[in-house]
Amino acid sequence: MSTEETLEKIASEVRVCTLCGLHKGRNKAVPGEGPANAEIMLIGEGPGFNEDQQGRPFVGAAGNFLNELLAQAGLKREDVWITNVVKCRPPSNRDPMPDEVGTCTQTYLDRQIAAIDPKIIITLGRFSMGKYMPGVKITQVHGQMKRVGDRFVIAMFHPAAALHQAALKPAILADFAKVPQLLEVARAELKKSAPAETPEQQKPEDDAKQLSLF
Ligand code: URA
Repeated sequence: MSTEETLEKIASEVRVCTLCGLHKGRNKAVPGEGPANAEIMLIGEGPGFNEDQQGRPFVGAAGNFLNELLAQAGLKREDVWITNVVKCRPPSNRDPMPDEVGTCTQTYLDRQIAAIDPKIIITLGRFSMGKYMPGVKITQVHGQMKRVGDRFVIAMFHPAAALHQAALKPAILADFAKVPQLLEVARAELKKSAPAETPEQQKPEDDAKQLSLF
């Protein structure tokens, strides 16, 4: 199965999921979206009103701000994969509960991450941050890149929090602005630790480079 097919299979399961109580109040589940080969994956908290209406992540006010943050960092929304910790809107936008987060993450998010295999995961807010950096304070770690296994994680403030607390705006802008440079670092580090290619896996341009050494 190709990565696209795996992601579509997960999305079709999400759309009819009844594993937790959140399905009872949903209009549309929100599996997530983006290119299967995305190097960057953004993980928010859960769908809000607009996302639940449209079945797409980050399409309301927080989404508009996220689009601005990506654009000012020189990143295109179409190049990143965007999803949430829970795929159905919690009633009245309450915080997702630990059992909802646990079920949705184990059943869907972890499989999405494994399929996409992004170099960098950007966590937006404390629920997705908690998956990778349990017990830390976002005020202490935001914008810092941390290696977690075969990828890197950057914790950021949630765009909705920055919309409501003007004092957070300069920090989230500065954190996003660093992403292209951090992606270069992540690419280089992951290349260093990648298993050596067998001659069969080498691309023609690698052969050309090698030949030019002699
Ligand atoms: N907030 C989130 O965390 N996710 C969305 O998709 C929209 C708003």
